[in-house]
Amino acid sequence: MKIAFIGLGNMGGGMAANLVKAGHEVRAFDLSEEALAKARENGCETFASAAEACEGVEAVVSMLPNGAIVKAVYTEDVIGKAPAGAVFLDCSTIDVATAREVAEAAEAAGYAMVDAPVSGGIAAADAGTLTFMVGGTQEAFKRAELVLSAMGKAVIHAGQAGNGQAAKICNNMLLGIHMIGTCEAFAMAQKLGLDPQTFYDISSVSSGQCWSMTSYCPVPGVGPTTPADNDYQGGFATGLMLKDLKLAMAAAATAGIDPQMGQRARELYEAFDAAGNGTRDFSAIIETL
Ligand code: NAD
Repeated sequence: MKIAFIGLGNMGGGMAANLVKAGHEVRAFDLSEEALAKARENGCETFASAAEACEGVEAVVSMLPNGAIVKAVYTEDVIGKAPAGAVFLDCSTIDVATAREVAEAAEAAGYAMVDAPVSGGIAAADAGTLTFMVGGTQEAFKRAELVLSAMGKAVIHAGQAGNGQAAKICNNMLLGIHMIGTCEAFAMAQKLGLDPQTFYDISSVSSGQCWSMTSYCPVPGVGPTTPADNDYQGGFATGLMLKDLKLAMAAAATAGIDPQMGQRARELYEAFDAAGNGTRDFSAIIETL
């Protein structure tokens, strides 16, 4: 398939390379010359604009920093430039309202569009093992699935346009909350005289068990190997967790709900980020508790 790929950063670079490996013809565009050079090394053809990359394609994939950029790229450079009937897949993490607005504009112009944000970081993007949560019509999902399956291990239809983003931010709000809860439990267990490994052995098979404990333990040397064992380098950056918590709180406000735990997680990650920890793994927040 002929596919345009826009946004070849930490995530998009590996995703575009996996589309090439799966036999697709990838026409790439990024504002960064360095990202374009890497894309060429990975077998993509590169172009001077998103509009040029979209010429003659059957699908457009994007992996961009935020909703304002996604909206500008689609309305200015993709809609009306890609051939009629092409399917658009925005894999960026953005706000639900913008995802729905862009999908509506694309559909009004005769295209199909899904929002398809991902779970999994840079390593999963490189390895082609991302999980995609997809919002859009059944027909758009079926077409998108063919493209997404070359970049991920799971592709799940979440319902109408915007629902992929809704699933992503609800999931990451829960992740932020249970990571902080896990950190608090380990910090308190230690203060009460429990060895962290002993607490892990008990809680990991008791009702406090959660993913932050058994798959991503914030305590070095306890549980599986995690960023905690590498001085909290790599993994999921605090800045990205904060971005997702902000999106979650904005969505909560438009939905008319006030999630107290999500709000507190956002405040704690905001303070941790402001203290200079934006690029460190989000489990490093244990150091503050
Ligand atoms: P990144 O900053 O490494 O990459 C973004 C790329 O977009 C950059 O190369 C930039 O030059 C390019 N870009 C910006 N504006 C552009 C424009 N107008 N036209 C073309 N290219 C443009 O970011 P990333 O880590 O790859 O993240 C991308 C998206 O994936 C974000 O929405 C992020 O929230 C989401 N995400 C990231 C991770 C992660 O672990 N990094 C995990 C899950 C989801």
